[in-house]
Amino acid sequence: MFIAGNWKMNTDVRSAVALAAAICERVAPSTKTHVAVCPPYISLDAVGRAIRASASPVKLGAQDMHFEQDGAFTGAISGAMLASVGCSYVILGHSERRQFFGETDASVNRKTLKAPANGLIPIVCIGETLTEREAEREEEVVGTQVRAALDGVSLTSADQLVLAYEPVWAIGTGRTASPEQAQAIHAFIRSLLVEQFGEGLGRAIHILYGGSMKPSNAPELLGQKDVDGGLIGGAALKADDFLGIVAAAEAVSR
Ligand code: PEP
Repeated sequence: MFIAGNWKMNTDVRSAVALAAAICERVAPSTKTHVAVCPPYISLDAVGRAIRASASPVKLGAQDMHFEQDGAFTGAISGAMLASVGCSYVILGHSERRQFFGETDASVNRKTLKAPANGLIPIVCIGETLTEREAEREEEVVGTQVRAALDGVSLTSADQLVLAYEPVWAIGTGRTASPEQAQAIHAFIRSLLVEQFGEGLGRAIHILYGGSMKPSNAPELLGQKDVDGGLIGGAALKADDFLGIVAAAEAVSR
């Protein structure tokens, strides 16, 4: 199981460190679930230090990166920079990046290919909009996104890649995919991973669900066969809620 918190454009440096400290304090080294927090760029260094100062196994992640290592890209942050502040993960292709910042399947693919060069594990986000779901096009849309993002990607172990299925209609809306809806599309994503990486790796890659997951609905969602964790937005901003989801993952523990 893997639970990652996407803090989006929330917290300043001080409150980010406080939130990270509150989480680290209660994620024991014996926790089987992999836990990561993804604060805004400005807080990565300070949060990384707070994590390292604790005895906790919590990992640091970023919310995006540029596909080049350096150069004239005003405002952008490279994978090398993320590695230099201790990031282990990077979220790529989040629907808000696609919707508001012109992220495309092609740029997600370039970033996914680049991340390992800096020792970063990509958390690749895919998911359909409400219109696409209502037109029953979710498999077509998600299939296109997965194939495009992973084009040319090769792995030597399953922990080098994480997928996050995030139906756009469930993000920040309070509306959650039903456990059955989540399982159905996760099983479809699993089949694509098996097709590309083979049975062993494809079955072991973590596929997270994201979209209004909270402590109350986490047990049922995480109980689905192909739901291997959660990418958490709103509920990641309150230590108690986030830790409640981590506890639900621990209870399922696989
Ligand atoms: C997200 O944006 O990654 C997300 C899952 O948000 P929320 O949990 O707030 O729906």
